[in-house]
Amino acid sequence: MITFNSLGLNPSLLKAVEELGFEAPTSVQEKVIPTLLNDQTDIVALAQTGTGKTAAFGLPMLQLLNAEASKTQGLILSPTRELCLQLTHELEQYSSGLKKINIVAVYGGANINEQSKKIKRGAHIIVATPGRLKDMIRRKLVDISAIRFCVLDEADEMLNMGFYEDIKSILTYTPDTKNAWLFSATMPPEVHTIAKKFMRNPVEITVGTKNAGTKNVAHQFFQVGGRARYEALRAVVGMNPSIFGCVFCRTKIETQKVADKLIQDGYRAAAIHGDLSQNQRDTVMNSFRKKRIQLLVATDVAARGIDVEDITHVVNYQLPDEIETYTHRSGRTGRAGKLGTSIIFVTKSDRRKIKLIENKLQIKIKECELPSPQHIFKNRIDHWVAQLKNTPIKSDLLPYIEEVEQNLADLDKKTLIELMLSHAFQAVEANPKRETLQKGEKSEASSDKKILPAQYKDRFFINLGARDHYEWTTLKDFIRSFLELGKEDIFQVEVMKNFSFFSTHKKHRNLVLNAFDDLLLDNRKISVELTKKGKTFSPKKSKKKKSKSANKKRAW
Ligand code: AMP
Repeated sequence: MITFNSLGLNPSLLKAVEELGFEAPTSVQEKVIPTLLNDQTDIVALAQTGTGKTAAFGLPMLQLLNAEASKTQGLILSPTRELCLQLTHELEQYSSGLKKINIVAVYGGANINEQSKKIKRGAHIIVATPGRLKDMIRRKLVDISAIRFCVLDEADEMLNMGFYEDIKSILTYTPDTKNAWLFSATMPPEVHTIAKKFMRNPVEITVGTKNAGTKNVAHQFFQVGGRARYEALRAVVGMNPSIFGCVFCRTKIETQKVADKLIQDGYRAAAIHGDLSQNQRDTVMNSFRKKRIQLLVATDVAARGIDVEDITHVVNYQLPDEIETYTHRSGRTGRAGKLGTSIIFVTKSDRRKIKLIENKLQIKIKECELPSPQHIFKNRIDHWVAQLKNTPIKSDLLPYIEEVEQNLADLDKKTLIELMLSHAFQAVEANPKRETLQKGEKSEASSDKKILPAQYKDRFFINLGARDHYEWTTLKDFIRSFLELGKEDIFQVEVMKNFSFFSTHKKHRNLVLNAFDDLLLDNRKISVELTKKGKTFSPKKSKKKKSKSANKKRAW
């Protein structure tokens, strides 16, 4: 087995790697680290995210740069803010034992002056998104004229996102003497062009087979009617109750629509797309990472840079236009040795595309049938039984057991099971027709009123509304994930153009009033106030109009 010791890394870096618990180098590290340490060369490396490529270029860069020199020596371009922050964090970990190395992240949507100040204090390495870096070069806030290493990370993603011109322009400010290290999961013609135009005899390094989807991913497809995709999605989720998945749609509108429907149907879902502000996207991503959201519905662009471990399923609600995009989507699951499933919904007329993907990526995509509603229901019961069996026993309940046992003494085992099942699934029809399947799970909003009498409720005003692209479902989801409350805890959400109202139990009053204190969305302070007793929005004009629009937007 090849060890980190044999790759030529210095003791401080070896120590950092050991402290991080890395036992052996990954294949990309095995190939890239010695090449970069020993030869002053350009490289083009084909490697997916999750293969350890950050350490593959990060460790040699940290070893080769001169900590005494204050000029910027390393530049890493990455497609998204999330990746930028992730890369910076990872490099900081690797450099923990080295003499002070300054690594500065530069990305859009954050204060440019703050970033500029950090660079002025000295940045050995700058990790940047192309758009923001170009802007800073234009304003003469950065100097990359003496860099020795330039990494293009996730080059295919950056080009997909339309950063070609920005990258080209940025490279003209770098010296010819630098070494360029390009990393990409796929090799579309645009990446070839960059390699040809801007690199000198790059060494090509491939990990695994070119363009292959991850080995740990099972690929499946379901033939569905064009209008039955949502139904199919619910069936897939119904069959996989512990799913932690990413659903890919093609448009922002569809993405939001699918997420809204899932939320209405009682699932912990959220949408992420380009119409959300950076802060809204961060909130959604944090909730997803912490698994408060079970299903993330995303456009390809918004999903870039999502590096969340443990994703069990990727659902291609529609197929993407480019086969490369399918590789990216399915590569979000099956990471770190775990198994994942990539599911495709296709209409009859699109079936031929399955063959094309199979041929191009050299994978097998298995045709599967959607289960019947009864089958799904049976599966949910099995899941419930398994969960029941795995419930940890709460020792503080033990003193009550005897009394409960006495109270239930007249029931035989079968009756007890019947009662437990009926209790757990009281709102669900055991023989549902397709349309009514999981109807009971819809009760999230409609059950509010039953649960909480008015005297226990607080009603709040929040200065977010339809102009911020919120509907009641997305606002409710945002508030509850931000406050880390459950789905029943926020109710009666009423969205107006510039502001909204929502209710909670009185016990959450302080939490709600204080939680948003430091939150800025697009540089706007979020203000949350208690409304006067039970008061909601009631425009003076046109009563008729009010009740109509309120009905449309409220959560019950
Ligand atoms: P990357 O492909 O750079 O995004 O890395 C994916 C994950 O693998 C990161 O969380 C790294 O910390 C981790 N990683 C990188 N190299 C190794 C290694 N040799 N052994 C174990 N984990 C690693």
